[in-house]
Amino acid sequence: MQIETAPYDILNYLPEGILMVDERGVILFANEAFSEMVGYENSILLGLNILSLLADIDVFAECIAKVMAEGKSLDANTDFLHRDGTIIKGIKSVRMIQNNDQIRFFVNVRNLSEINRLNKELRDSKELIEYQANELSALLSSKNNELEEILGSIDEVIWYIDNKTLSLQYVNNAVEEIFGFTQEKFLTDKSLWQEQIHPDDRSLVKMFFETLIAGQSHEIRFRIIRHDGEIRWLNSRIHHHPTLHLFIGITTDVTSTKSQSDEIAFLAYHDPLTQLPNRAKLKLQLENYFEYSASSKFTLLLLDLDNFKNINDTMGHETGDKILIEVSRRIVETAGKNNFCARFGGDEFVVLLHDTDIESVDLFANELIQIFKTSLTINEIDFFLSTSIGIVFYPQDASNSEDLIKHADTAMYEAKKKGKNQFIHYHTSMQHAIHNFLHIEALVRDGLSQNLFELYFQPLIEGKTLLLEGYEALLRLPHPKEGFIPPDIIISVAETNSDILLIGKEVLKQACDFIITLRELRQEPFFVAINVSAKQLHQEHFARDILHYLNERSIPTSFLKVELTESAVMENIDIASIQLTQLKEGGVRIALDDFGTGYSSFAYLAQLPINTLKIDKSFILPLFEGNSNRHIVKAISNLAHVLGMSVTAEGVEEKEHFDFLIENQVDTLQGYYLCHPLPKTEILKKFKNSAPYFTPVPSLGYTI
Ligand code: C2E
Ligand code: CA
Ligand code: CA
Repeated sequence: MQIETAPYDILNYLPEGILMVDERGVILFANEAFSEMVGYENSILLGLNILSLLADIDVFAECIAKVMAEGKSLDANTDFLHRDGTIIKGIKSVRMIQNNDQIRFFVNVRNLSEINRLNKELRDSKELIEYQANELSALLSSKNNELEEILGSIDEVIWYIDNKTLSLQYVNNAVEEIFGFTQEKFLTDKSLWQEQIHPDDRSLVKMFFETLIAGQSHEIRFRIIRHDGEIRWLNSRIHHHPTLHLFIGITTDVTSTKSQSDEIAFLAYHDPLTQLPNRAKLKLQLENYFEYSASSKFTLLLLDLDNFKNINDTMGHETGDKILIEVSRRIVETAGKNNFCARFGGDEFVVLLHDTDIESVDLFANELIQIFKTSLTINEIDFFLSTSIGIVFYPQDASNSEDLIKHADTAMYEAKKKGKNQFIHYHTSMQHAIHNFLHIEALVRDGLSQNLFELYFQPLIEGKTLLLEGYEALLRLPHPKEGFIPPDIIISVAETNSDILLIGKEVLKQACDFIITLRELRQEPFFVAINVSAKQLHQEHFARDILHYLNERSIPTSFLKVELTESAVMENIDIASIQLTQLKEGGVRIALDDFGTGYSSFAYLAQLPINTLKIDKSFILPLFEGNSNRHIVKAISNLAHVLGMSVTAEGVEEKEHFDFLIENQVDTLQGYYLCHPLPKTEILKKFKNSAPYFTPVPSLGYTI
């Protein structure tokens, strides 16, 4: 069956929410569209009861009762509750699947508000997917069957093609309705789909594929000509899968007899949120520049907002959307009428500037940096953003749109690497730094095979006494060719495969080396905190292995502390709780890292054996911007103490931060104001130079 090679996560690219719940309503599976709809991370949804997400429990209960009594599918209008408390109008269909004595409910949710907003009359939202009972009973028997059945009964066209040859590998049977040829015909003639694209849109589609970077998803609208000559407008959301070498897409027909083709044309080339030209339009604009004026010169600036994901994660997409609208307004205002601006992707914008002399371009890039200096106020909360900008010149730096964008992206990445909030011009020496997923993966492998990984240590200071309590071990990968690769990028790539486990082992080993060396120099107790990712924590013998290793190296367990993020713990609370209890009983301390940025259930928190809450630096850095962060910090500090935990603040960059935190009983402090992360040799040097304690030197800041 074709579907065997299909990535299971294809369900995550569906625009509709898909859920599977058991007979008690506990969510066993939820795709990303549903997570996004309700504003919770997927890992948190699993295990939650669907009832907690419903605005009206009775309607759902009635619906389930009917489905159970009549044994068939039922559609109902249901309102869901978003995490931020807003109500989402939805339609769902519920179907019961029974296999042996297991009962599962399969829930398919369409977000009406979203559909209405984006597509208005373009889609008929009442047309729900009808699932056949006997088809769905196969859901439980095998994952492949499950996928095939789901894909087969959905009215969006789902497909994937080879990323090199663009030949079709799979398409579901919805293709027939839109294209007019059968699924079989498409699967036999693997380039048939390309021939159906409207000749005027072919180069657009081609360019789209050429510039879709591995690991990213984007949307495109284009026309096809059916075999009966009818023209249809399609919208495709396409993902470039980084490891399977596939483009995976979901295509819907957005043609409507009612709608004006002008409006569709506008939608095809504009981003519905900001009304700015989209990627497709940018490509056309670039092609125009290349084609119609051979002597044309221009500058392309690619902006990527810094840490925008944090805002989306903590404040919800609605706030994120408002910020993007305001940001785009400011960019357009700065760029002026004569320069072209586009929204390139989620939080990425492109400006095409007619100026090409370096001074004016730098002046302009500076203006763009400056527009973020004024806070954005959304729902009475002030947000302080910044942006990193990559700059390329045409024709010097690249001669086609693909390379222009690739090089701008490379330069932008350099700006991020150098500390964000700045612009950088592309230079050929950066060419190696193409930061796609596979590239980083290769660097991680280099790091492991050539023992390049190293730990830096950042002191943690006790607020009351100003004495050194311990260190956080932070991973560094100084790559001979690439310089320092940011650890969060390394970790996010390594977490997709088992490299993270090897990295984790290396970190534990080097942290223990450090503890042993330091114990020879220092009589007082201290700890070294290591960061542990979800995948490590969920290994069966995680706690046992750590305790065993410490024992093997004769290190008392109190010298080690483990930092875990809330989401890592919540991903599987049962396993996490067993592992953490075992660690704590063994004497290893536990801190909950990045506290405040994820989902926290205080009920869970109180039950877990956690010693320390570590307030995320995104609250500390802008501590004095607006009032809310100071309130949050005070509240977390109180909460921790009520729960019998200590509290640590990271990202202490200024004296004012330091003073405020001490005043508010934050127990432990960490940040550049006190000391940057340093290599092991530097820390040891400080000790050998007879500075055994952290000593505050108020006039100069603090040193160890
Ligand atoms: P984290 O665990 O939240 O680590 C704290 C980060 O804050 C570190 O970034 C540190 O250098 C930075 N930092 C410390 N003081 C200040 C300050 O005053 N201002 C600012 N702006 N930043 C400060 P770093 O070293 O880049 O690490 C980033 C993230 O990468 C870490 O965030 C952690 O999530 C991950 N990471 C680092 N090492 C490891 C590791 O060994 N294993 C795992 N699983 N993750 C790691
Ligand atoms: Ca940490
Ligand atoms: Ca942290």
